[in-house]
Amino acid sequence: MKAIYMDHHATTPMDPKVLEAMMPYFLENFGNPASVTHSYGWTANEAVEKARTQIANLIGATPKEILFTSGATESDNLAIRGSAHALRQKGNHIITCQTEHKAVLDTCKVLEKEGFTLSFLPVDRYGGVDPDHLQRAITPKTILISIMLANGEVGTIHPIPEIGKIAQEHEILFHCDAVQGIERIPVDVDQLKIDLMSLSGHKIYGPKGIGALYIRKKLPRIRLEPLLRGGGQEQGVRSGTLNVPGIVGLGKACEIAKEVLPQEAVILKDLRNLLFKGILSNLDGVHLNGHPENRLSGNLNLSFESVEGESLLLGLKGVAVSSGSACASASREPSYVLKAMGVREDLAYSSIRFGIGRFNTQEEVDHVIGEVVERTKKLRQMSRHFEKAGVMV
Ligand SMILES: *Cc1c(COP(=O)(O)O)cnc(C)c1O
Repeated sequence: MKAIYMDHHATTPMDPKVLEAMMPYFLENFGNPASVTHSYGWTANEAVEKARTQIANLIGATPKEILFTSGATESDNLAIRGSAHALRQKGNHIITCQTEHKAVLDTCKVLEKEGFTLSFLPVDRYGGVDPDHLQRAITPKTILISIMLANGEVGTIHPIPEIGKIAQEHEILFHCDAVQGIERIPVDVDQLKIDLMSLSGHKIYGPKGIGALYIRKKLPRIRLEPLLRGGGQEQGVRSGTLNVPGIVGLGKACEIAKEVLPQEAVILKDLRNLLFKGILSNLDGVHLNGHPENRLSGNLNLSFESVEGESLLLGLKGVAVSSGSACASASREPSYVLKAMGVREDLAYSSIRFGIGRFNTQEEVDHVIGEVVERTKKLRQMSRHFEKAGVMV
């Protein structure tokens, strides 16, 4: 039997409706949207423009403000590098947060080497950024603030309205990596005062290898230094032939998200609470990581006292989840996100992230509860046994 998939923050399966929408654009309508001399090009271009509208509708933008990329990693790189280099004359200070995705953190670290000054804001014990900290970090040289919508590891949602307001008051660009949560949290870029926003297809039941970047078109106009040079597609900001099937898929995924968002958030939250209660009522020494309320609806990040996260993961044969700790083979460092939140080291090593998604069922949740409880009890028994025998584990 295949393991039950509960790792939806890593990637999601495609919605069958997304695949259906994409199919005609592989074999029949394979045209290059940049071909203006025949109907193959026109058909492809129409599909791309439709997708732009579908994405814009989800986030309260206009189609012209949506640019296609190869994924959110590229969107983050383009937003941060592109705006930093374009605004170099204005200032050299960038503010981000310690628990951002590596696509943001590593881009910022490269800029630091190139002479930009970086402020990596701390987070509170729930993983949230404090707007007062942001306010205090701003200098006359600050040109960009990059804070994500929600953290994919612990699920905490950042105070985006407050951050947007501060950015606007100081006339600083605000980039938001909204990969996690865009399909769960209603987002309106105007209301939230977001200038640049990264999206990814494969985190919202769309295909892999496609992403988008929202770039505000209202004045003052944002100019981004391109990462890629070439044919000048996407208004010269992102050269390269457009991935038409991927774009169609991302558009469809956004259309579905807009449709199901309110109901789905409730369903996922109920399943998440069921999972949490089921585990808590059968086990002691379980700690929740992240904010108890203000979190992604499908996310549950737990630490299990006296259990090693990796041993537990290995034991959970019928469940596909991930450990908070990034286990780079040699250096088994606990997660930088939990570390930044000040989570006790032994608990950071014992964390498991459950990510419930669109196609999970209550029966699956029940099964996962059973397996987690049984494995944890077994591991705790074993470590007590070894302790008695004086063996280090
Ligand atoms: C997955 C993820 C990314 C990277 O997206 P890709 O499309 O896989 O490149 C960036 N930011 C966050 C928060 C993510 O979860």
